[in-house]
Amino acid sequence: MDFLRATTWTEALRMKADRPDATPLQGGTDVMVEINLDKGRPKALLDLTPVTELTEWSIHDDTVRIGAGVTYTRIIAELADRLPGLAQASRTVGSPQIRNRGTVAGNLGAASPAGDSHPPLLATGATVEAESVDGTRMIPIGDFYTGVKRNALAANELIRAIHVPVKTGPQYFSKIGTRNAMVIAVCSFGLALNVAERTVGTGIGSAAPTPRRAFEAETFLAENLDWSFENELDPVVTKRFGELVAAAAAPIDDVRGSRDYRVHALAVMARRTLGWAWQERVNGGNS
Ligand SMILES: Cc1cc2nc3c(=O)[nH]c(=O)nc-3n(C[C@H](O)[C@H](O)[C@H](O)COP(=O)(O)OP(=O)(O)OC[C@H]3O[C@@H](n4cnc5c(N)ncnc54)[C@H](O)[C@@H]3O)c2cc1C
Repeated sequence: MDFLRATTWTEALRMKADRPDATPLQGGTDVMVEINLDKGRPKALLDLTPVTELTEWSIHDDTVRIGAGVTYTRIIAELADRLPGLAQASRTVGSPQIRNRGTVAGNLGAASPAGDSHPPLLATGATVEAESVDGTRMIPIGDFYTGVKRNALAANELIRAIHVPVKTGPQYFSKIGTRNAMVIAVCSFGLALNVAERTVGTGIGSAAPTPRRAFEAETFLAENLDWSFENELDPVVTKRFGELVAAAAAPIDDVRGSRDYRVHALAVMARRTLGWAWQERVNGGNS
């Protein structure tokens, strides 16, 4: 196996152009496990860890641009106020060691339907900044997932950053696993309320071949939520929202859970996250 190490972004793009068969390596928490378990042996590894610019985040026009090398630990420590949904999801990833190495870019590269960053990225309408020697492509998150563990990156492209809008209302993430920590999601759900524009974002994880939004549920809630937050949360609206989220999923039976359990759990998580979001507003949350 060849080991390529890029020290600058330009060099990384050039190396990927010359060796499209090279597997990018960021935190290595997916790549190295696959190699150690002999599940796959790439012809070449392209180590991106020396590229320091990837470890930076910045804010432009109410959007956080998260470099591909920013770890979950830093998202939790540095961005929880602006990106609460993504920070909540980050807190559930693996263990401290995994969060110290693992990145959202790596989660996107792996494109597992169970990846924890996907629901909040979908709910907030994130965009993936992909680049090659041919130029930059801004890929809306909904177009990024193309199949089980497949994504829209071309063979010569790398993820440079992820653009996530700063919160415009309450955001919540919920994950069900077979235990509370160090666990792959049986299913997961992300909710983002945009209070100013009275729109709703959702993201479903681990309950379809790719992470996906629940479009009907979003429209229903946007039209039926009492955006003044002055009355009690309507249980009829909550129940219907849960049903529509569950209906948007297409889960399978597998070792982690049955189809029926996932459908049931999604409705529960949708109701639960809506309840939390509502409570945040009632308690005077400034979002
Ligand atoms: C013990 C353990 C527990 C885990 N728990 C969780 C969990 O709870 N939730 C969860 O979602 N995941 C979990 N994971 C999986 C993993 O930690 C995450 O998917 C993580 O986000 C991967 O990030 P990374 O930087 O380590 O990626 P890497 O392993 O470096 O890369 C992952 C994939 O992304 C590609 N890639 C990396 N960077 C780029 C780039 N810049 N451009 C293009 N492609 C790129 C790689 O080629 C590879 O295909 C766990 C893993 C382990 C070992």
